Amino acid sequence: MKFSHPASDITVPAGGDPAAALARTTHLSVAAHQDDIEVIALSGIAACYGRADRSFTGVVVTNGAGSSRTGPYAAFTDEQMQEVRREEQRKAAALGKYGLQVQLAHPSADVKKPGHPGVAADLDAVFAAARPEVVYLHNPADKHDTHVAVFLRSIEAIRRLPRARRPLRVLGCEGWRNLDWLLDSDKVVLDDGAMPGLAGPILAVFDSQIAGGKRYDLAVAGRRAANATFLNSHQSDTLTAATWAMDLTPLVEDDGLSVEEFAIAHVERLRADVAARLARLSGR
Ligand SMILES: [Zn+2]
Repeated sequence: MKFSHPASDITVPAGGDPAAALARTTHLSVAAHQDDIEVIALSGIAACYGRADRSFTGVVVTNGAGSSRTGPYAAFTDEQMQEVRREEQRKAAALGKYGLQVQLAHPSADVKKPGHPGVAADLDAVFAAARPEVVYLHNPADKHDTHVAVFLRSIEAIRRLPRARRPLRVLGCEGWRNLDWLLDSDKVVLDDGAMPGLAGPILAVFDSQIAGGKRYDLAVAGRRAANATFLNSHQSDTLTAATWAMDLTPLVEDDGLSVEEFAIAHVERLRADVAARLARLSGR
């Protein structure tokens, strides 16, 4: 198995043939940066952990260049920092017992370019061979350009597959912008409470980001806990940790469905909900 960028990296934590590991994939996450998978797809990682009949594959599309560096990493060159982040991702894959970890190492600018041939070829290779049941992507309302670009490139790649070979379920998970604003009827609830002992440590391996002054480990744990409590105002908490996702499956079932219209329809339903509640409680 070979990908287009010379710096691409393939790790099979348990050893063995990467192509065989890719073919075994049941749960797949394609995300922009090192540590994004551990933010958006913890429920998928946990669903596959230690299971002979399931296998998690993580794909990081960019090279992790340009990340902030302070403290012990202050003097690192951009190349050294990319290597640190690559190694951190390998560690997370080992800790989470992923079947396969791929790091495609594309510059962020190439991913944001629609139709970049290397990015398209790599994602085609992943989606053609993986045959996952569930795919965890960034969501289209995320506020990080690279996240949205990776989401778009992934949907484009899935739409190039014959229908019978497409994943059964595709989810857009919260990352840079929470999805609390989705109507409850639009929310897919991903239960992140299955492996509390893994949730913290698998984010803590990304020390270069945490030392860079971004406490993603605390922020993500806090968001998951808040989601579990704020899911329902009239019932006691049934979950301890949750991530919200948007169900993107309609986008891969209907090639004619505009991604933009699909995303904006979710915003319109929020708008209608706010307007209707205010009108009702104002006696109108
Ligand atoms: Zn990211």
